[in-house]
Amino acid sequence: VTRVFSGMQPTGVLHLGNYLGAMKQFIALQEEGECYYCIVDLHALTIPRDPAELRRRTRELAGLYVAAGLDPAKATIFVQSHNPDHAEAAWLLQCVARIGELSRMTQFKDKGKDSESATSGLFTYPVLMAADILLYQTEVVPVGEDQRQHMELTRDLAERFNRQYGEVFTVPDVRIQKATARIMGLDNPEKKMSKSAPSEANYIALLEEPKSILKKFKRAVTDSGTEIRFDPEQKAGVSNLLSIYSAVSGQSIDTLVEQYQGKGYGHLKVDTAEAVIAELEPLQARYHQLMESGEIDDILAKGAKQARAATAETLAKMKEAMGLIL
Ligand code: ATP
Ligand code: MG
Repeated sequence: VTRVFSGMQPTGVLHLGNYLGAMKQFIALQEEGECYYCIVDLHALTIPRDPAELRRRTRELAGLYVAAGLDPAKATIFVQSHNPDHAEAAWLLQCVARIGELSRMTQFKDKGKDSESATSGLFTYPVLMAADILLYQTEVVPVGEDQRQHMELTRDLAERFNRQYGEVFTVPDVRIQKATARIMGLDNPEKKMSKSAPSEANYIALLEEPKSILKKFKRAVTDSGTEIRFDPEQKAGVSNLLSIYSAVSGQSIDTLVEQYQGKGYGHLKVDTAEAVIAELEPLQARYHQLMESGEIDDILAKGAKQARAATAETLAKMKEAMGLIL
C-alpha cells in the first residue's frame, strides 16, 4: 500500500480552496493508501497567535477533517505536536538544509522576508514540513499548487540526507489535482484563495451560512465582458467559477460552458453558489453533531498513538546515521 501524508494549518478558517485542492484528495486516497493526515499546529506558531484561539482552531480543524469525510478507521488523524518526533527530526534536517535554498522559498519571501521581526520559525518552516513528510516514509503527498516548491525542497533534503548519511528516506512524490490545484480568490481572481487573505470576501469558509455564500458568489469579481468560456489568462474570474462549479457538481467544464452559452454571469454565479451550498450542507451538519459529541478528543488521542508508532523507527535511523548514540 502507498504511504500518504499531508497536513493543514489550524489558522483561520478552512476554505473552498483547501477543500477542493487538498481535502478531497485526502478523502479519495484513504481508500487505497496508508494515510496520515496531520493538523500542523507547530507550523501555525511561525506567526504570533492567540493561544486560546489556536487551541480552538486545532480542534475545529480536526472536526472538519472528519465532517468532510476522513474516517479515523481508515486514516490516522492527529495533531503534529502530539508526536514529538516531528520537532526532533526537523532539528536534524535543519543541519542538512542550507540558508541559500531556504531564502529562495517564495512563501517566505511573500510572508516575511523583508521584515526584521519575522520569526526564525517562518524561515525554517519548510524544513519542519520536510520532516513531517519524511518521518512517515511517505510516497505520496496530496497538496495544492502553492506547495510545489516546498515539495521540491523536501525531495532535495531527502536525497541529500541519503547521500551524506546513507539510505534512510523514501523520496516522496507530490500529487496535485490539476483542475482544483489553485482555486482563486473571489475578490481577486489573480491571487489564490487564502486563509490569511485580508478580506472575508476572498474566500468561502467551509462552515459558512448559505446566505453568505450566495452573497459572496454574487459579488465575485469577473470581467467587463459577457461571454462564458474557460480561459484562466483572459477571464480569470469566470474560469474560477467554472472550476469550482465543475468540481462540486461533477460536470465537466466543457459541458458547463455549453450549458451557459448566451446566459449572463449572474446565472453562473447563482448556480455555482447553489452547487457549493449543496456540497457543504451535509458537511456542516456532520460537523455540528460531531463537535457536540466530544468524540473528537478520542479520535485525536488514538491518532497520536498511531503517529508516534509510525515514526519511531525512522527517527532512530536518522540519529544513528548522523552519529548520535541511541
Ligand atoms: P495560508 O494562507 O495561511 O498559508 P492556506 O489557505 O494556504 O493558508 P494551508 O493550511 O497553508 O492553507 O494549506 C492547506 C492545503 O490547502 C495545502 O495542501 C495547500 O496547497 C492547499 N491550498 C491552499 N490554498 C489553496 C487554493 N486556493 N486552491 C487549492 N489548494 C489550496
Ligand atoms: Mg498556505
